[in-house]
Amino acid sequence: MSDLVTLGHRIRHFRGLAGLTLDQLGQRVGIAGSQLSLIENGRREPRLRLIAALAEVLGVAVADLLDDAPPSERAGLEIELERLQAGSLYASLGLPAVRPGKNVSDETLTALVGLHRELARKSRESIATPEEARRANTELRQRVRSIDNHLPAIEDLAEEAVAAVGHVGGALTHRSVTLMAERLGFDLVHVGDLPHSARSVTDLAGGRIYLPPASIPGGHGLRSMALQAMAHRILGHSEPASYADFLQQRLEINYFAAACLMPRRQSVDFLREAKRNHDIAVEDFRDAFGTTHESAALRFTNLATAYLDMQVHFLRVGDDGAVYKAYENDGLRLPVDVTGSTEGQPVCRRWSARVAFDRVNRTTEFYQYTDTPEGTFFDSTQTGATAAGEFSITVGVPFVHSTWFRGRETDNRLASTCPDAACCRRPAAGLSERWSGKAWSSAKLHAHILSPLPSGTFPGVDDHELYEFLERHASDAG
Ligand SMILES: [Zn+2]
Repeated sequence: MSDLVTLGHRIRHFRGLAGLTLDQLGQRVGIAGSQLSLIENGRREPRLRLIAALAEVLGVAVADLLDDAPPSERAGLEIELERLQAGSLYASLGLPAVRPGKNVSDETLTALVGLHRELARKSRESIATPEEARRANTELRQRVRSIDNHLPAIEDLAEEAVAAVGHVGGALTHRSVTLMAERLGFDLVHVGDLPHSARSVTDLAGGRIYLPPASIPGGHGLRSMALQAMAHRILGHSEPASYADFLQQRLEINYFAAACLMPRRQSVDFLREAKRNHDIAVEDFRDAFGTTHESAALRFTNLATAYLDMQVHFLRVGDDGAVYKAYENDGLRLPVDVTGSTEGQPVCRRWSARVAFDRVNRTTEFYQYTDTPEGTFFDSTQTGATAAGEFSITVGVPFVHSTWFRGRETDNRLASTCPDAACCRRPAAGLSERWSGKAWSSAKLHAHILSPLPSGTFPGVDDHELYEFLERHASDAG
């Protein structure tokens, strides 16, 4: 027997066909009509002997009553509605349960069930498990690769937005960013009590963008955060419907902010000039536009293939050797796990991204050629540090493009055969013999980039905290 609700519906269905009231059928099988009603509503479990008696009076087989299919399409909808209304998701909304009696039309019932199904689907999607998050992230990386990390429509919007406030070149000032916000009808307000893990909050009704009072060290600058907040409006984003949607929006706002801070025309002019001089250096690009090294390196990947005719790769790697962020369209073989995800995977110890940590002098970029089974690559790596530890930012190209880069005359050259374990993972034979089975180590739990996210309208931000925050500040808006 499937469940009591379906059984009840089947009894009611066959009672209707037999033309009997609750009382009439109850009397024939020796129970009160009210008891039969409870059974039909799935609230009481009938004994098998009673089911047999009911089947006999209704002229059907016991198996007909115990069948787990709804007796009709209408009954199927009623059963589904009851189940959905009984769930914790609906209960969390604090709304009354609708009883799908005869006065509820088929149309109304269909609409209600349809809305319930969509609500359940969206809720499942927004509670991203780490597996779902990793899958969505991998899909996005593959999509980005297929378009050479270049989004022309957003380039156009960013170019218009900075031109409209009279920005002509060099670093985009905080003043220009404030003017851009004003054109969109927003005030930039700096506060010290943003909801936990929210970068910014936008009060659409009140026309305010709330930002932290100071830059996050080693993280996003204030200009970048303000531009990202504005980007949601400029790009016409609505509340993310899924984790994949959330990632796509985040990619787009990051892209927009970078394209404002390093506008296409000025950036391409700057980089083409450097290419003509065989002197491309991310550190110069960074300094010319007053951004972080990571922003400049990522921005370089937006423009390199579309405007400089070269394939590139980008890596942000932690001092533990694990990938934090990666992009390639030049055939570099990124380390991946079984799901195709690269975040958290260790890169080869012989790659520039890791070798650079061993340097003493880190004031300039580190240059290295690396021979791999996929060909030789030229890399330039800059190391930096945050409270969480050291990291390295690498931009690299296939050997053929190294001629355009500063540092191309370096003598640093290493060979890597990863993912072949003999490259840098397998210990030397002598050491294995000496230590195998004679030591034990406890692993550090990897504080992973894609840990489970609290569910809310915006992944990672708690709705309760968000709305409390908005309440707190709505009153001082004056
Ligand atoms: Zn290796």
